[in-house]
Amino acid sequence: MTNLTRLLAHEMADLLRRGEVTSRTLTEAHLAPAERQNHALHAWLTIDRERALDEADAADARLAAARAEGVDAAKRLHPLLGIPVALKDLVSIAGGQATAGSRILDGYRSPYDAHITERLRDVGAVVLGKTNMDEFAMGSSTEHSAYGPTSNPWALDRVPGGSSGGSSAAVAAFHVPLGIGTDTGGSIRQPAALCGVVGMKPTYGRVSRYGIVAFASSLDQIGPFARDARDAAALLHVVAGRDDRDSTSAPVPVPDELLALPASNDEAAAWLRGRRLGLPKEYFVAGMEPGVEERVREGVAALEGAGARVEEVSLPHTEYGLATYYIVAPAEASANLARYDGIRYGPRLGDGTVLENYLATRGRGFGAEVKRRIMLGTYALSAGYYDAYYLKAQKVRTLIKQDFDSLWAQGFDALVAPTSPTVAFPFGARMADPVSMYLSDACTLPVNMAGLPGISIPCGLAEGLPVGLQFIGAAWSELELLRLSRAYEAITADAEWRTLEPTDLPRADDPSTPTPTERARAASAGVSQALTSPQAGVLRS
Ligand code: GLN
Repeated sequence: MTNLTRLLAHEMADLLRRGEVTSRTLTEAHLAPAERQNHALHAWLTIDRERALDEADAADARLAAARAEGVDAAKRLHPLLGIPVALKDLVSIAGGQATAGSRILDGYRSPYDAHITERLRDVGAVVLGKTNMDEFAMGSSTEHSAYGPTSNPWALDRVPGGSSGGSSAAVAAFHVPLGIGTDTGGSIRQPAALCGVVGMKPTYGRVSRYGIVAFASSLDQIGPFARDARDAAALLHVVAGRDDRDSTSAPVPVPDELLALPASNDEAAAWLRGRRLGLPKEYFVAGMEPGVEERVREGVAALEGAGARVEEVSLPHTEYGLATYYIVAPAEASANLARYDGIRYGPRLGDGTVLENYLATRGRGFGAEVKRRIMLGTYALSAGYYDAYYLKAQKVRTLIKQDFDSLWAQGFDALVAPTSPTVAFPFGARMADPVSMYLSDACTLPVNMAGLPGISIPCGLAEGLPVGLQFIGAAWSELELLRLSRAYEAITADAEWRTLEPTDLPRADDPSTPTPTERARAASAGVSQALTSPQAGVLRS
């Protein structure tokens, strides 16, 4: 008997349509490891077994009705019908929790479904639960979750990346074939890279954010996690498209070809012939690990070997990406987070005046990183500083966008780059130094600043940990990026690393394995020891 969790979503869809498996069986097969391994991985903040099985039964009824109607009706079913999906815990489900990884939304229940929840429900996908994340999606490791960190399935003492680390870990650990994340500066692509899965950030405006907890409104985008390009394309197809309730969602048609990426490797690889790809030299940043650079350069060589033309290009304003992002994103966050006042959402602390209660609620409800961002943001927006910081950053943002535009004007089909300069790092490694955490996204942030689509796909391992290859395209070129990703999968289909599973899953199965919170505590005890050790003292003096 095949292990159902190891199938891709499109393989599960074939079995479902042929009546060889039910969605209930498929859903139970995924719930079991998700529940069993959650103490060791903590990918999930909540798993809703009952609701998932109800949705699976509903999917089975739809499948049976279509099969009774005939082959054509079964073919018309959406490939996501009956397939398990994970949602990051900032997506609203009517009556369900949406903590955004924060204490300030503890106990809050969404009064309505997000647009993407409705879309998933319409096609009959099965939502298994809500996944862990950095508080308000601020972070690159999921260590900033108020509910404790998530472990990387490849190495339990390391982070899965962030901020959508729960979804990426759940997909990597075979708890679900598909997951939803959000990407403001890299939060889908970076955890995808660190967990060895596919993660796509669509063009700004591609997916409606109605019902999603906002971080930085001019940057946030929702996107898919999957284990291959075809599955990512199918999930994007479901959630994408104009929605009147989000005025930034664009009236751009969603191509149905997203559901028809080639199954054959030859056909998929043929797409590469004659394509022109740019390799931005600035993305090989200082501090990039040699193993990561090697894998990325091998990936580039494989693309060239299959007929793509790869040319080194320059995006000269890349070096300002980080600085401008950390003005724009906190500024917008400080405005978006003003609504958490202890009156409208979640818990209300204090029993004094309105101001006292406000201060108590926000003081205890927000974590350190969120407070840091609010302070940075309100400072950058304050009278006298607005022009010097926020306005200046917006101007530099235009220059970053123009760098990309000039490459599209020269006829490049896409850019190929690393996703993350490093593999998954140990718990605690970047917690004491915010800037080192911010640097995790040096290769992903500029894409958000320019509003472009980007995707990270696995390209092998370095020191036994996954490395991601990033493709970046012009606005609305998701289909081309997914074809390129599918082509890369085709030309590396026989690579040995493709046969490897996350190495720490057996330990995640063991009930005596420590939790991520215990691991992170042990790591931070180690860090503070190192700082007070005689050697550290010598370095400081
Ligand atoms: N790591 C970046 C930040 O902390 C990006 C996060 C995101 O994309 N949501 O802001």
